Amino acid sequence: MHRVTVFTLGGTISARGGDASRMTGTEVLAGLGAGIAGGLDVELRDFRRLPSSSLSFEDLAALADEVRATLATGSGVVVVQGTDTLEETAFLLDLLCETPQPVVVTGAMRRPDLPGADGPANLAAALAVAADPGCAGLGVLVVLADEIHAARLVRKTHTTSVTTFASPGAGPLGSVVEGEPRILLRPAGTSAIHPLRFDPAVRVALVTLSLGDRGELLDDLDTRFDGLVLAAFGAGHVPTWLVDPLERLAARIPVVLASRTGAGATLTHTYRGPGSEHELLHRGLIPAGPLDPAKARLLLHTLLSTGAKSTTGYDRPGITAAFAHVTGAGLA
Ligand code: ASP
Repeated sequence: MHRVTVFTLGGTISARGGDASRMTGTEVLAGLGAGIAGGLDVELRDFRRLPSSSLSFEDLAALADEVRATLATGSGVVVVQGTDTLEETAFLLDLLCETPQPVVVTGAMRRPDLPGADGPANLAAALAVAADPGCAGLGVLVVLADEIHAARLVRKTHTTSVTTFASPGAGPLGSVVEGEPRILLRPAGTSAIHPLRFDPAVRVALVTLSLGDRGELLDDLDTRFDGLVLAAFGAGHVPTWLVDPLERLAARIPVVLASRTGAGATLTHTYRGPGSEHELLHRGLIPAGPLDPAKARLLLHTLLSTGAKSTTGYDRPGITAAFAHVTGAGLA
């Protein structure tokens, strides 16, 4: 019998009535009804009962430790949490955990007391994936609406739709049909770079540019921050007047150039004028490639936690190489 450990963290799947209280893990599992998890040995960890917007770095560091320890016992893993930050939890686990057994993150878009609540179906599909040895070694997976997504690619794309999770530019790896996972595509590589750590004390800022931005938020980035992710325009462009301030910042802390568009990779040499991606990379910024800003922030956070900074500066080549690896640019 396959063993699956379910970590419940709260979120909409447990938000009966919509107030601040969240159901217990036992109540969430009970929503499955009789027989659904019948062929499985399911162990429950009632880990947190929070809206996912209130999960802290400390919560996620503790979760990653427990997931790694659980995998070492031979169990598959399902993490159940709110959808608002689900893609960040999934990607962080993807960076920190190997997947000798499947690790699946799921949640729900409709509260359990509303018509058409999707929590039980998502949980049942996630359990099926976590119990299937054929879904091991794919990196951390996200399962909702019967679709199986790679944590590295998936994003929440809609505030209310039950099919909110999508992998722009790639699509899902597979789906769950009649309760059985069917993997159609395999990722070119997995994200875990070992040994990566996650230190909750590291601080990485995320600044999104908007038209006419004068850079006041960049000016306010004082020594509290160890790194910056810039969600820039288009394929990695900034106003000409921000190039010098960004170069000064990049001389002190790693500055990763990502795109605010929501899909596609940052470029490296298509545009070469002032404020272009070519100029910014030449001035010391690091390309995020296809990683969206929130995921780029978590990758930079783990790299800085793992020794990519020192009192004399930071390891720009090492960080650049790690981004290339995780985004597939470095895959053979
Ligand atoms: N969607 C929210 C979340 O991500 C719902 C909540 O507040 O529980 O957790």
